[in-house]
Amino acid sequence: MVAGADDIRHARYDTARVAALIREAPPEDPVFLFRPEALTRRAETFKRGFPGHVSYAVKANPSTDVLDTLVRSGVTAFDVASVAEMRAVRECLPDARLHYHNPIRSAAEIAEAKSLHVASWSVDRLSELDKLGALPPTTQIAVRVTLNRGGAAYDFGTKFGAGPDMAVALLKDVSARGLSLALTFHPGTQCTDPHAWTDYIAACALIARQARFRLAALNVGGGFPSREAAEGPVLAPIFDAIRSAIATHFPDDPPTLWCEPGRAMVADAAWLLLRVKARCGHILYLNDGLYGALGEWRDMPVPGQRSTFGPQGVERGGNPQPFTIFGPTCDSLDRVPGTWELPSDIAEGDHILIRAAGAYSTALVTAFNGYGTRQQIDLRTVKGGTGQGRLAG
Ligand SMILES: *Cc1c(COP(=O)(O)O)cnc(C)c1O
Repeated sequence: MVAGADDIRHARYDTARVAALIREAPPEDPVFLFRPEALTRRAETFKRGFPGHVSYAVKANPSTDVLDTLVRSGVTAFDVASVAEMRAVRECLPDARLHYHNPIRSAAEIAEAKSLHVASWSVDRLSELDKLGALPPTTQIAVRVTLNRGGAAYDFGTKFGAGPDMAVALLKDVSARGLSLALTFHPGTQCTDPHAWTDYIAACALIARQARFRLAALNVGGGFPSREAAEGPVLAPIFDAIRSAIATHFPDDPPTLWCEPGRAMVADAAWLLLRVKARCGHILYLNDGLYGALGEWRDMPVPGQRSTFGPQGVERGGNPQPFTIFGPTCDSLDRVPGTWELPSDIAEGDHILIRAAGAYSTALVTAFNGYGTRQQIDLRTVKGGTGQGRLAG
């Protein structure tokens, strides 16, 4: 179902384009390499494979290029966490469906969100549900459930989410207000375990039974893993698990299903090209680090194959060795935890290509120490796609 062979072929072409770019005009500063076709293919994968509707979690990559490409690919619903994200979506698609699934909101944010006609609001406590005040009767309230189970690279359940008892109480309250009943959860980002979804779906079915309500909708969150096509399909087993869990736990009258992927939708949509500023033994000083596009590495290793290019865009062939990676700022915290395996002959001036760098990268770049600016190049505009590029080093 995931177009694995297609993805690999495109990745090869794009790798050759990166080599050509380095040959012609080696970038000095970090560059994002936008891959709209990869994004379109991923949107198709979700639309065809997920047994319900797809909304995109804007926070993973809010760039206009990404939003426009998704809209052109037929995505019409967006999970937004702030008024700024709502406005960014409305700019690209004026009648987009907005899911405001950040359960803590100020009164001012609520007022603005109402004027922007949000379709769904998540809640995880009664006080915040009260704060919403009057809403049109078609409005969906998605009660955010947490089970505090592991299985993801980064657990989201510690900040938001109601336990099952509170979820039952919230559903009753939502029903008393005459609003549309939904449950939602987020298994944690980069979650590779299909049981995370099946456990949550079973728990949601139990909550709905205990509250004695029929759910209009069930939103199974984001959390879908990003992996490169070379590693085989990772989404299909999760989609299958969700499909069969719904059949088991909601045998009659299943709710409308939604998912709201962030990472898995955009990870492959951009690659990141960095440069080695200096090499000192097994320490590399790069032109980007934890205050830039590698911000997420502070919390978790980010999947995505790397390639190293020497002069003239020729890939380095030395045996892989562990290197300590420092970013460009003067803060000693600006160091990637652990080490990266890179060719032993890597040298100052070389470029490191990080694939699958489209999620939580552009969005996290800071201007600390004056390093905030980022160029973005649409890889399709780079000549030199001979198909000769290698995927693995
Ligand atoms: C962040 C977030 C998502 C997207 O998560 P990914 O792990 O990037 O897929 C979806 N829904 C909500 C409510 C979120 O906060």
